[in-house]
Amino acid sequence: MTTEATTGPLADATRDARELLARCDELAAISSSTTGIERVYLSPQHAEAHARAAEWMAEAGMAVRQDAAGNLVGRLEGGRPGLPALLLGSHLDTVPAAGRYDGILGVLSAIAVVRRLAPRAATLPFAVEVVAFGDEEGTRFGTTLLGSAAVAGAWRDEWWDLTDRDGVTLRAAFERFGLDPARIGEANRDGEVFAYLETHIEQGPRLEDLGLPLGVVTGIAAARRMSLTFHGEARHCATPYDRRHDALLGAAEAVVAIESAARSLGAMATVGRIEVAPGAVNVIPGTATLSLDLRAETDESRDAALDAILKRLAEICAELGLTLERHDTHRAPAVLCDARLQEAIAEAVGSLAPEGAAGPIPRLFSVAGHDAMAVAGIAPVGMTFVRCEGGISHHADEAVTLEDVVAAVDALERTVEVLACAQASSSPRSS
Ligand SMILES: [Zn+2]
Repeated sequence: MTTEATTGPLADATRDARELLARCDELAAISSSTTGIERVYLSPQHAEAHARAAEWMAEAGMAVRQDAAGNLVGRLEGGRPGLPALLLGSHLDTVPAAGRYDGILGVLSAIAVVRRLAPRAATLPFAVEVVAFGDEEGTRFGTTLLGSAAVAGAWRDEWWDLTDRDGVTLRAAFERFGLDPARIGEANRDGEVFAYLETHIEQGPRLEDLGLPLGVVTGIAAARRMSLTFHGEARHCATPYDRRHDALLGAAEAVVAIESAARSLGAMATVGRIEVAPGAVNVIPGTATLSLDLRAETDESRDAALDAILKRLAEICAELGLTLERHDTHRAPAVLCDARLQEAIAEAVGSLAPEGAAGPIPRLFSVAGHDAMAVAGIAPVGMTFVRCEGGISHHADEAVTLEDVVAAVDALERTVEVLACAQASSSPRSS
């Protein structure tokens, strides 16, 4: 139970948070699926969600445009036109059967903050921009962070030939959406960005366990993905055990060994897919292919976990007379959040606690990838995590509380103020 103020800043903050949650509900209704939320890059739903968000950005006082990659950008000029921009953002695309807050909460809290800043924009030593990235999840073309990679000038030509499940190339999807692939370079903001801040639901239960609404993100996990194929011999099921080379038996032991090795080294390993051939009920599997997604706080801890896993898999192969073939598909280094931005966020979060009640501000690393990973290529990045119920995300059960949204918006506004203060005092000529 909370007693809500009916006037004053607290009432305004509650009203903003209520409106933000209603907007999350409104965007949740923009879906290509009738049974859940699904909004993929360069789809009609992408256009519709961005059109709605563009109205909110304009209403908050921003000049709004779509960039060359289909990201939506709203800009509030600072003390004078053309200053480098503090970017606030996240993404509006979703996975299939998604929740309504992953990414969306970050974009909408940024819009709420800019609306508060607009009356005093002339005092800001930087422009403030809200970016709604068109693709973070990567579910349509199988490659994540397409929107933020374009902004970071990290677009790769080979991506044009990526296809969705209907065989539509990324190039064709751009053209159908009304974008010109030849102009992709115009989305690159290198040299124009002061810093990037992202507010995101935690996607884990640590803040809930701590009983705290907000945490400072220290960095984003290093990741690797690969397929692991166990080769044995496909034989009739009459083959005696001591003559078998059962690839699926090796894969099954591997799944258990992978979790155990990663767990003991503090890494996160997930086997999300397994394919068996020939796949007949009365034939011993000749091959079994696993997907492995491996993440850890640092590149070194990730690679140490992989070494331990591969050692165990070699032992399993030796025991069962199998061979292992590995195919690496993805490798991303850990991204550290900027120390100065971490301090600014911690100061902002700390200042929200009732007087005398400020405890240590939790510092968490993100196991999940975020747009901040890509933007880190051109600017310092900072992230704030918001508690979500049960740590559940990428699911219709994603939930946040009104009080936590109040805290998230207030913290983002204060973080901008802390940075503005520091910037104004470090560059008196606001150059
Ligand atoms: Zn997200």
